[in-house]
Amino acid sequence: MHETRLRMARTFQHIRTIFGEFVLLLLAMTLLSVVAAFHIFDGVGQAALNRALGFAVVVPILSAVPYAIYFVVRLTGLMQHNDGLQRAATTDRLTGVLNRPGFDTIIRRHMAALGDHQYAGLMLLIIDADHFKRINDRLGHPTGDKALKAIAGALKRSMRGSDAVGRLGGEEFAISFPCTSLEQGKAVAERLRLSIGKLSVSDGKQSARLSVSIGGAFYTTPQLFDRVYGAADVNLYHSKRTGRNRTTITSVAAHGRRYLQADRQQENQQAARLTALPAR
Ligand code: GH3
Ligand code: MG
Ligand code: MG
Repeated sequence: MHETRLRMARTFQHIRTIFGEFVLLLLAMTLLSVVAAFHIFDGVGQAALNRALGFAVVVPILSAVPYAIYFVVRLTGLMQHNDGLQRAATTDRLTGVLNRPGFDTIIRRHMAALGDHQYAGLMLLIIDADHFKRINDRLGHPTGDKALKAIAGALKRSMRGSDAVGRLGGEEFAISFPCTSLEQGKAVAERLRLSIGKLSVSDGKQSARLSVSIGGAFYTTPQLFDRVYGAADVNLYHSKRTGRNRTTITSVAAHGRRYLQADRQQENQQAARLTALPAR
């Protein structure tokens, strides 16, 4: 809904710009036609000159009306077509949520808004279906596809229109949304995990319950994408390693500190090993 409004606003802005250019062109053509009429009919008497000048003004203005109608109809059609192409280029064909480039575009917009202090913070969640290979193996690939659609549908229904819900690839989804605190983001992630835990898919004979593991990163200042994705990905890996069907979320700052500490620890251990080496 939010995206549709933005697209409509962009289309309207486009039409306004083109209309402005059209009016300028019309004024220029009318002026040219008046100058030409003056030049050609000067000397044939004042009455004839006045008529010629009136003609030179009225004809371009009247002929602009059908031209304007033609252009508005054609341009609106072309812009709708363009919107359709844009939507197809940013939508995942199977699930109908954003694809990777589409998701990246919206998360960039979210980050710009964070930089403008429109949000207190942002959350990135990476959501990976658990043991999905088993579902494909047991119930078949088409049922696996149904499961992916069901997960995408549940994610989309649980989030607002202005949030970004995307499929990063395979059985991995991502969500970016504004939130005021780490705790609030954790509550949203838990709600998503629980709602997907209620889903099941069936091939008509057997069925399988679905579950997802979630890794999240919360940040309050614009960050490098790789850093945010990296932090969420490490947390996802932690959720998988500690039993799946769970969420692990940290703030990017805390994540960075933990890694800095780990680096320092490694450096200290290396230094200790070097000093422990016997002198030659
Ligand atoms: P884990 O809990 O560790 O994430 O295990 P997993 O089995 O989900 O992960 P793994 O990476 O081993 O397997 C992912 C599977 O997802 C393998 C692949 O066949 C399946 N998959 C990827 N894309 C699609 C798709 O578009 N449709 C279907 N049906 N399956 C897909
Ligand atoms: Mg998986
Ligand atoms: Mg995966």
